[in-house]
Amino acid sequence: MADMPESFTFLLKPGELTLKGGNRGDFEQVLKRNLSTLLQSAACRVRIRDGRFFLHCPREISGQAEDALDRLFGIAGWAKTRTSDKELRNILKACVEEAKTLAEGGIRSFKVEARRSDKSFPLNSYGICCAAGDAVREELPALTVNVRSPEAVISVEIREKAYIYSLEKKGRGGLPVGTAGRGLLLLSGGIDSPVAGYLMAGRGMGIDAVYFHTPPYTSQEALDKVVTLAEILGRYTMGVKLRITGFTEVQKRIKERGPLPWTTVLLRMAMMEGAEKIARKQGDKCLITGESLSQVASQTVENIACTQSRAGLPVLRPLIGMDKEGIIKIAQAIGTYESSILPYPDCCILFSPPHPVLRGNPMEARSLYAALDASPLIDQALGRSELKKCGI
Ligand code: ATP
Ligand code: MG
Repeated sequence: MADMPESFTFLLKPGELTLKGGNRGDFEQVLKRNLSTLLQSAACRVRIRDGRFFLHCPREISGQAEDALDRLFGIAGWAKTRTSDKELRNILKACVEEAKTLAEGGIRSFKVEARRSDKSFPLNSYGICCAAGDAVREELPALTVNVRSPEAVISVEIREKAYIYSLEKKGRGGLPVGTAGRGLLLLSGGIDSPVAGYLMAGRGMGIDAVYFHTPPYTSQEALDKVVTLAEILGRYTMGVKLRITGFTEVQKRIKERGPLPWTTVLLRMAMMEGAEKIARKQGDKCLITGESLSQVASQTVENIACTQSRAGLPVLRPLIGMDKEGIIKIAQAIGTYESSILPYPDCCILFSPPHPVLRGNPMEARSLYAALDASPLIDQALGRSELKKCGI
């Protein structure tokens, strides 16, 4: 039997987790669990053998499986394989089938690469390559062998079965989500913060999120947009737990008691206090923001120092050294950009002063912040906050 018509096997190549030495087993288990979650199909099976992952799926959901693989952090690449028993003629038949698919796609030159983890197989790797190359040329004379720079490589792996594949797709890379603890993302409706969450998820971090909204000054549409962003982000991060927190009273207090040029920095400090309280309660180990150095007035290094002074947990800012163009490229690639640019202003725009402080002093910031006496209002806001599970 040269193929299993009723099912597909995907071969997955783990990425960086191959570097993780003693932790490797844990990383593999998380990757396996994440893949099963994304697939949402009991009909699929994931197996790990010799550092390779095999995903077996019924043929009718192979499109769904490819979509899940495309969203999975932790794999360097993957390929849809043909499987065969270890009869040489069946292996060669599968190679010819694979080559036919390549030729139909316009490929004209190829080479064969073979790996043999089953050393009892009668041919060595070189022997398999020669036999497969000959079989393909005999059936498809228009295809030529080019060992130096072929247009395609047909891979043959002899394990407990034979796996034959050629079209390898690039994986998302990074580390499996859930191997680096959880972080709390300050998620606004802008372009930057969803990208920040995505990048941290790519380092293995689980993502919770908080959105501070200011009804009636900010609209239901602005809130819906943030929920949409959390949904999209959650497709890569194994879901996002979004906490929606009303900050109207806090904003009003800042407007009443804070000097006008300081309002944005003071609001950021209040957000830090709120986020930190949520994070500690939920077990998030850090805060994540979409700040990028000097992108706006509140993101000068001096003002970041003011904001930071309210946070006891580490604040991760994965975009800090990126320019807007680079951030937009990622937002477009992950599908958040279109929603982010919808024109519903968030609280920061509505309350932003015409001449904000550019280089705040953290000591002054702390004393202005203390004078607000905002903590009870923040606690009340958190008590009334709403939790929404988004994504996958
Ligand atoms: P973004 O595009 O992510 O909104 P931005 O360039 O608009 O960022 P700011 O508005 O200064 O920058 O916000 C800086 C960071 O503060 C955001 O990236 C986000 O992490 C956080 N933040 C801003 N507004 C909110 C909000 N309403 N709720 C939660 N977090 C927020
Ligand atoms: Mg913003």
